[in-house]
Amino acid sequence: MTQPVLACLDLEGVLVPEIWISVAQKTGIGELRLTTRDISDYDLLMKRRLAILEQHRLTLRDIQSVIAAMAPLEGAGEFLGWLRERCQVVILSDTFSEFALPLMRQLAYPTIFCNRLEVDESGRIVNYHLRQPDQKRQSVIALKSLRFRVVAAGDSYNDTSMLAAADAGIFFRPPATIIQEFPQFPVTQTYGELKHQFCLAGGLAP
Ligand SMILES: [Mg+2]
Repeated sequence: MTQPVLACLDLEGVLVPEIWISVAQKTGIGELRLTTRDISDYDLLMKRRLAILEQHRLTLRDIQSVIAAMAPLEGAGEFLGWLRERCQVVILSDTFSEFALPLMRQLAYPTIFCNRLEVDESGRIVNYHLRQPDQKRQSVIALKSLRFRVVAAGDSYNDTSMLAAADAGIFFRPPATIIQEFPQFPVTQTYGELKHQFCLAGGLAP
């Protein structure tokens, strides 16, 4: 009996645009464009972002108003629907539940595991809390222990441990530097290609 397939998807860059880049565009603060593609140490990156927000006196509400105007990537909703018809899907994201909600609404509330922000009375984001270190990888390991065949897809440095822990890992629109560093993962550029890789890795119906 073959194991049922469970798909783990990164959120930003795979289903929705990079949230922090959208905030940078809207606020005109260029420094907020930094992502896990630029700084692979997530804690260093988040400390930097929070310091920039503090410097510019931006609150959670300011950022949520930007996110509310965002939409999933073109074709993301259709792709996610296709995948959910064929296997169970869990989104594993390093974003925060406070940021994800307006986008999850537009994707019909798929299952998502992410992190939390700490906000003070005035709405300033004072800290962030990871549910556990390296949660994407830990989630894949836990799901595999439940006898699922895990196929994971992501675009950035913060996905590589998840892709490596999965039974199969797939890149979606990754930067060139990551492709060279992790040549073992197939690279996809369109949802059609991503579907094809899920079919190959998971034995899903096309
Ligand atoms: Mg990403």
